[in-house]
Amino acid sequence: MIKSVLLWENQRRYIREAIDAGELKGAIVPTGSTEQHNEHLAMIHDTASASHVSELAAEKLRPQVIVTTPLAIGVSEHWMDHKGTLTLRPEVFGEVLYDVCDSLRRHGIENVLIINGHAGNAGPIQQRLEDFRQRLGINLAFHSYWEAYTSELVEKQMESGNCPGHASEFETAFALAAFPNNVDWENVDYDNAKLTISNPDRAENDRAYHHEAKLATAEKGQVMIDVAVDWVSEKMQNMIQ
Ligand SMILES: [Zn+2]
Repeated sequence: MIKSVLLWENQRRYIREAIDAGELKGAIVPTGSTEQHNEHLAMIHDTASASHVSELAAEKLRPQVIVTTPLAIGVSEHWMDHKGTLTLRPEVFGEVLYDVCDSLRRHGIENVLIINGHAGNAGPIQQRLEDFRQRLGINLAFHSYWEAYTSELVEKQMESGNCPGHASEFETAFALAAFPNNVDWENVDYDNAKLTISNPDRAENDRAYHHEAKLATAEKGQVMIDVAVDWVSEKMQNMIQ
């Protein structure tokens, strides 16, 4: 039996024995980013949130599902105005993701669910998904975890009405619930910050999201996390059945 739902925390014998026993049936691959998240939220947010949802979903299906090491750098060219953002070219990101899925396939795991936390990854993955499926010959699915949310839920939980939004109310609420140390408002002075946003629409959104983020609470975040976890575990459950 697996020791942890997180692949990288296991010694090889746990994984080998779980696969050989036919007990380990599926894997979740979290995809995220390392990119600017406005003035108050840590750059790792998309990776951390996708991993968090994936881990809790896998716990619900324990010991049948494992979570792989997340892809912590995504397609973030659109945020390169902000120092610190790391980006991969879409084709490079796609190739890395493919190789991770192929590694799982080679070990006999034939149900792979990619759970994404960064909007910029969605297009590049969707474009390649069918090709990946055909080349891998496995049961492969892809979702951004916020697909779990109905417009009714968003309206009820998010005062801004915005979800996911970038480093806005939703992501900030998620972080307050799951990893509050990633939220740091200390000395944030948005109006005097030397921002270098070349696109005027983006600059306007950035300012709006900064203000909307202040509406976030841990309670709202927890509700949204719980919904996403149930939704993802159900998707995975259907895949391994
Ligand atoms: Zn984000």
